[in-house]
Amino acid sequence: MPTWLAERATQWLGSVPVKLKYGPKEEAFRAELVSWLEANSPTKEQLAVPRLSSAHLPDWAREWQRTLFDNGWLVPGWPPELGGRNASPTEQMIYFEEMKKREIPRSYNPQGLGIIAPSLLDYGTEEQKEQFLLPTLKAEIAWSLGMSEPGAGSDLASLKTRAVLDGDHFVVNGQKVWTSGAHHSDWNMCFVRTDPDAPKHKGISVLIIDMKTPGVDPRPFPELSDPHYTDFNEVFFSDVIVPRENLLGELNQGWALAGGSLAHERAMLWIDYAYDSKRALNHLVALGDQLGADGRPIKEDSKFRADVASFYVDSQALMLMGYRGFSKFLKGRAAPEHSMLKLFGSETVQKMMLCGLEAQGVASLDDDALGAKVYRTGSWITSYMRTFGGTLPGGTSEIQRNIIAERVLGLPRG
Ligand SMILES: Cc1cc2nc3c(=O)[nH]c(=O)nc-3n(C[C@H](O)[C@H](O)[C@H](O)COP(=O)(O)OP(=O)(O)OC[C@H]3O[C@@H](n4cnc5c(N)ncnc54)[C@H](O)[C@@H]3O)c2cc1C
Repeated sequence: MPTWLAERATQWLGSVPVKLKYGPKEEAFRAELVSWLEANSPTKEQLAVPRLSSAHLPDWAREWQRTLFDNGWLVPGWPPELGGRNASPTEQMIYFEEMKKREIPRSYNPQGLGIIAPSLLDYGTEEQKEQFLLPTLKAEIAWSLGMSEPGAGSDLASLKTRAVLDGDHFVVNGQKVWTSGAHHSDWNMCFVRTDPDAPKHKGISVLIIDMKTPGVDPRPFPELSDPHYTDFNEVFFSDVIVPRENLLGELNQGWALAGGSLAHERAMLWIDYAYDSKRALNHLVALGDQLGADGRPIKEDSKFRADVASFYVDSQALMLMGYRGFSKFLKGRAAPEHSMLKLFGSETVQKMMLCGLEAQGVASLDDDALGAKVYRTGSWITSYMRTFGGTLPGGTSEIQRNIIAERVLGLPRG
């Protein structure tokens, strides 16, 4: 950390940086993981292979996920037969920290591993678990998630894609949107309306749909922030026949899966935001040594220095709030911190990117300019545009504010 930042941060925080210690058992777990990662992690060349969407699995990524599975490092909290080692919650937190520090992906199909596999485990029949769960964990199949529709995003319960039960199969008609990786996925976990007369939360079911079924039409559309990576799709369903045994969970009880599926790993998600903000801060500090539009080192600008120091404080606050929420979670207590971390985390990273692009001036518009490959990919402007994506899924910033106001602060509904 440069002196200018350390001085300002110490002035505001008292002391820097915060370090928390773990017990010997946890540190032994960390040491085992770190030495395993040192010996087995994907190479730079593998990580550089272009990834075309969140359901595109290059060969090396399939092998890597399989290696994690075989060695009990894919979902450490699960038993060995499911790619884990029955790790305690604290050990799982250490695992997520170490993976995130190194930016090592667990899976190139995060919705499959993070949302759909736990849903299959919780709600699947024995046959569904056999057909889908292990192949998902071993990266033999890739998934997309069909929740959002043109008229149903934040208000998911308004979804209209209709599934009519006709003997031994459903007939599905309708449209999904923002379906990440649909064009590369083998299967879709699709939320459909099966009872149009019931109150809107009660007539929803979840179907496992084979993306190769006649009548399924995924139409990818490009993203403004990265022309080389096409993840979003509209998916149209026209008279799609889905076998009845592909109903996941009970008929008309799909709403439970919406909450349940997205809740998985939520207690650990803050680690992503905390480390993203740390990484963004390091990029800002490095930017300080570059020359600005006026020909002087950017760090000589006092507003830039004050902003970066304030982001340092925010980044420390994120980490500490995450640890505090996690320790409450371990004791079985409510952890309102988790509702705040997504909002605070995604918006903090967004403000950091804006600070970088303003400090760099017009040079930030050029993907080939100094500072390219700032934050995961691209220039400061590209990185800034990408941060908008982080403020939407899993509940937009406005929805998070509603939750905090009503459930954390106890304010009346607006
Ligand atoms: C990177 C990314 C990946 C995604 N992947 C998937 C996927 O794989 N599968 C899938 O199904 N969906 C996916 N989505 C869609 C995502 O779930 C929706 O974007 C999200 O639920 C918001 O819905 P919407 O876009 O329809 O916005 P809307 O719900 O229409 O909201 C529009 C605006 O109104 C505001 N608003 C809405 N309701 C309220 C309210 N009650 N109070 C205050 N403000 C409100 C919102 O905050 C927002 O600013 C993805 C989105 C992103 C950005």
